[in-house]
Amino acid sequence: ISVTLSTEKLFKVLVIGDLGVGKSSVVMRYVNKRFDETYKASIGVDFALKTIEWDPKTVVRLQLWDIGGQERVKNMSRVYYKEAMGAVVVFDITNSSTLEAASDGQPIPAVLLANKCDLTGRDGALVSSLDSFCKDNSFLGWFETSAKDDINIEEAGAFLVKQIMLCD
Ligand code: GDP
Repeated sequence: ISVTLSTEKLFKVLVIGDLGVGKSSVVMRYVNKRFDETYKASIGVDFALKTIEWDPKTVVRLQLWDIGGQERVKNMSRVYYKEAMGAVVVFDITNSSTLEAASDGQPIPAVLLANKCDLTGRDGALVSSLDSFCKDNSFLGWFETSAKDDINIEEAGAFLVKQIMLCD
C-alpha cells in the first residue's frame, strides 16, 4: 500500500476595483459557478474560499477578499495587503474611467481583469492599450472576462495561482 501525502497551500488574494465593475460577480462565478443579476454584495470586506486540486499532490485554497467598492486602491489600508499573496484587479471594459483605479502599481503579484466583455460597449482602443498598461503598472497579465457568460474567469485564476506558486 502506498500513501501519498498531499500538500495544502492557503493563499490570501485581494479582489480590487471600483464599485460596479463586477468584483462580487467574478468571485461568485469563480467560487460558486453561477451568475446572479440580483445578488447584492455586503458593504465592506467579504471573503470567499475557492479550493483547487492543483495537481495530484497539491491542494490550493484561495481566500478571496472582496474589498468594498468604495475603497480605491490608493486609499486602501495596508492592513488588507498584510499577508496577501496576490491581487485580482477588476475594471469594467465599457467604462474606461474604472481603469484609473488600477493605475497605482501593485505591491503584490496582480492580474488585471477587463470584465463585462460580453457587452457591446467594449472599447477596442482600450483593449489594445492593455499590454502597455500592464507593463507600466506592474501587472503580470490581463484577461478579458465575463462573469455573466463565464469567459476567462477560471483561466485568470489559474494564471494568478501559477504566479503565486512560483514566488511561494
Ligand atoms: P462590484 O460592486 O464590483 O462587486 O460589482 P457587482 O458584482 O455587484 O456587479 C455590478 C453590476 O454589474 C451588477 O448588475 C452585475 O450583474 C453586473 N455584472 C457583473 N459582471 C458582469 C459581466 O461580466 N457582464 C455583464 N453584462 N454584467 C456584469
